[in-house]
Amino acid sequence: MLKEFFRGLTDMLFPKTCLSCKTRLITEALICPDCKNKIKINIPPFCIRCGKHLENKNLNKNVCPACRKTPLYFDRAFSPCIYEGVIQKLIHQFKYGNKRSLSPVLAGLMNEFIREYGIYLDFIDWIIPIPLSSARMREREYNQSELLSRHIAQEIQKKVSQDILIRSRNTLTQTGLKHSQRRENVKGSFKVRDCKPIKGRNLLLIDDVLTTGATASEAAYTLKNAGANVVFVLTLAN
Ligand SMILES: [Zn+2]
Ligand SMILES: [Zn+2]
Repeated sequence: MLKEFFRGLTDMLFPKTCLSCKTRLITEALICPDCKNKIKINIPPFCIRCGKHLENKNLNKNVCPACRKTPLYFDRAFSPCIYEGVIQKLIHQFKYGNKRSLSPVLAGLMNEFIREYGIYLDFIDWIIPIPLSSARMREREYNQSELLSRHIAQEIQKKVSQDILIRSRNTLTQTGLKHSQRRENVKGSFKVRDCKPIKGRNLLLIDDVLTTGATASEAAYTLKNAGANVVFVLTLAN
């Protein structure tokens, strides 16, 4: 009886459960300390193209086998986390579970990474979130990459542009597709609305996940065709 009363009281005070494992939380955090510790952090050495962890340093001038096989159109990508376990669950909640409140936590990991490795981004002119198609935007009501971009912008003191790059058509989900199929799927799916603001400019693309890099690469290809100079990519996980 008393136990139930206290549980009811806790429910009222802290009605939340961990967004990853669903255990009850006794603080205002969004995930429990256990899950926080289980987040897999991306550690050096990094591939100098896609930013994934390299098994053997210096073997091939710090470029991973995938990037040697299929060159990507962006100049460099960075990610603080490995896309599995807790982070995978959190990204799912963030994208499909309407958990916008996760954006400061997730972007915080990206900002920590920028600070820890002293990633030089002073030369960046625009932060550009990977856009959603209008159909997907209606479905989800927000673009997760745009939410992350706002926090990154605050950290590095740069402006976000949401209307330079747009999706010209809806694409199938990339999940379950092979590398070559992914590239085919996103081909021609981006468009630059106005070339003027990016001519000779340096851009930082923001997305939640970089798996094969096909989406970010296609976006970079489109931006460079429109006159962009350097295109960097920052994602939460890879
Ligand atoms: Zn948990
Ligand atoms: Zn690579």
